[in-house]
Amino acid sequence: MRRLSVLVCLLALTACAPAPEAPAPQEPKDTGGVDWAIAIHGGAGVRHSRVPPEAEAAYKEGLRRALELGRNMLEEGASSLDVVESVLATLEDDPLFNAGKGAVFTNEGTHEMDAAIMDGRDQNCGSISGVKTIRNPIHLARKVMDESRHVFLMGSGAETFAAEQGLEIVDPEYFFVQRRYDQWQRVVEKERNADAEKSGKSAGRPEGKLGTVGAVVLDRHGNLAAGNSTGGMTNKRFGRVGDVPVIGAGTYASNRSAAVACTGFGEQFIRNTVARDVAALVEFGGLDLEAAARKLIFERLDEGDGGLVAVDSRGNMTLTFNSEGMFRGAADSSGRFEVGIWADGE
Ligand code: ASP
Repeated sequence: MRRLSVLVCLLALTACAPAPEAPAPQEPKDTGGVDWAIAIHGGAGVRHSRVPPEAEAAYKEGLRRALELGRNMLEEGASSLDVVESVLATLEDDPLFNAGKGAVFTNEGTHEMDAAIMDGRDQNCGSISGVKTIRNPIHLARKVMDESRHVFLMGSGAETFAAEQGLEIVDPEYFFVQRRYDQWQRVVEKERNADAEKSGKSAGRPEGKLGTVGAVVLDRHGNLAAGNSTGGMTNKRFGRVGDVPVIGAGTYASNRSAAVACTGFGEQFIRNTVARDVAALVEFGGLDLEAAARKLIFERLDEGDGGLVAVDSRGNMTLTFNSEGMFRGAADSSGRFEVGIWADGE
């Protein structure tokens, strides 16, 4: 009898128990000694043989310009999301980088761009893929996050949404850059008889065909954000989409752990869910950001696959890669301000 009444009580309690509470929003954490921090990348497909020393200065200038914009905005108290979006739009407008103007050519001679942005406060995010006429794909990713009920739009639907949102639509000709055209022609020639039909991991890394721009930011309010934008892979076919707009693969942000933006052989970053794994190792694995990034880049990926930039909720940053170089830059409120390309730091 006693057992029965306990059971009845328990059932009554369960029935009256309040519905499970929604998880509390992730409070910004104490940022230690740094008020704000920003790291950017401009792609890890860079080779010494393809960037003559005289071109290095131009790449570094492009990185510096974007980083300066980020630094100025952060000093004035801008949000991490606004900084990621503005810095990436600047890099998209720079024809040197494979995003926006300067995006690589597809097999059809077009440009198909992917982008993503993510808010570390609540994991809200916006991704787009395969857009051909949006001047700044990162603006569209932000609109998807803020103004739609979805997180990922593709192709013509994404473009219709962009027009509805009043974003700048350009003629596809806008994206033409002679250097990219010549690069595409070289790749077409090389692949004519090569192993283009190989599939899966055996297809190998697409040497010299990649590039992306990305940014991760901790703002003065203690909030993290990450974003990436890319033209993808030169001569890509069949609507190929890389890791950039795949949340958790190329892009991820959580105030609980880190903001991560990856660059490199996208198929490998998707297979290994790199961005989320780095954050998860920080959140659940007890690793510091540097150790988490190195684990993925050096123990999970293959040498030459690429790299990432990441910042944690205390403003620690890592710019880690296993390729010959990665266009990159970092700045924070302690006065750090640097750009680099090669593994030796230069
Ligand atoms: N990850 C990009 C892609 O696979 C390219 C890159 O970052 O270089 O589309």
